[in-house]
Amino acid sequence: MSKFATAKINAIAPYVPGEQPRDKRYVKLNTNENPYYTAQKAVNAISESVVKSLNRYSDPECKPLVKVVADYYGVGEENVLITNGSDEALAFCFQAYGSCGVCYPDVTYGFYDVFANMYDCPAEHIALNEDFSVDETKYFAAKKTVVLANPNAQTGKALSLSQIEQILINNRENIVIIDQAYVDFGENCNVIPLIKRYKNIVAVNTFSKSRSLAGGRIGFIVADKELICDLNKVKYSFHPYNVNTLSMLLAKNAIKDDEYFLLTVSKIKKTREELCRGLKDMNFEVVPSSANFVLAKTDKVDGGKLYELLKEKGVLVRHFSDERIKDYIRITIGTDGEMKALIDALVEIMEEYQ
Ligand SMILES: *Cc1c(COP(=O)(O)O)cnc(C)c1O
Repeated sequence: MSKFATAKINAIAPYVPGEQPRDKRYVKLNTNENPYYTAQKAVNAISESVVKSLNRYSDPECKPLVKVVADYYGVGEENVLITNGSDEALAFCFQAYGSCGVCYPDVTYGFYDVFANMYDCPAEHIALNEDFSVDETKYFAAKKTVVLANPNAQTGKALSLSQIEQILINNRENIVIIDQAYVDFGENCNVIPLIKRYKNIVAVNTFSKSRSLAGGRIGFIVADKELICDLNKVKYSFHPYNVNTLSMLLAKNAIKDDEYFLLTVSKIKKTREELCRGLKDMNFEVVPSSANFVLAKTDKVDGGKLYELLKEKGVLVRHFSDERIKDYIRITIGTDGEMKALIDALVEIMEEYQ
């Protein structure tokens, strides 16, 4: 670091993304990407004439994509804001609504702490229950901005819509941000329909996980139109052309290919249940998941060691050193072949550790 950086930048601990190794081919189960390719209909939308038009700026309002997203979810175009991945959406939210303070679970998406530091939002960590579920009553009358990933990052556990509604009812004077990165892998927990009844909810969504577009960097916010106005102020004070032309087209056509979306999501959910059974057969403790990953542990090898041993065998999973989940590894749901490679590697490892 240089002598020129501000004190704040010197002090900041940035987000550390999961490894994207280039040294060899791994079975890559560490960053919750979708194992299935981007929808072919989306890929086909990128014609030569589209690429040639890149001499022009992208549409700052993302009009065609906003329309498709609004229609798909049954909301108005004035309720939608497209972002460069949902990380950017979250950054806008912390900037717009964070200075009064933010609160979120002690085990959740690591980026919330980074944004809180970066945008000077006093942060409170609220403990999850022993079984990693969220006690919704701990968020009632929060008097600050509530941020909840639902299903939650790292644990995969989800609150029901009625629990979220209780949080909304008990926080009329502050914003509740629901990060829905994994919502399509859960059961009936999408909060988008609630934006019509509650003026204090911001639903943050992404194309990265369930829509196989992590590299396209597309996220979107759905909220009451006044909140969208606030968030647009942040956007236009930072980067008016925040979404590039190619990704906009990819996302627009991906959302139109509902058949592929439903097929791949249901396949991932089925594979998840098979993986959970396989792990339990090997005496792993598995946290029931509504996401595209599972958290699992064994009392034979600690989480950090298991991560290392799997990596040696060419299987990449995620390990977190946070006290409450350090015994676990987080496994992204892959293809059947990838899940077999994982189980085979675990069988070999467990033979040594009986
Ligand atoms: C993956 C993830 C994101 C970020 O997704 P992008 O849209 O790729 O920026 C946000 N929140 C949670 C909880 C995630 O797991």
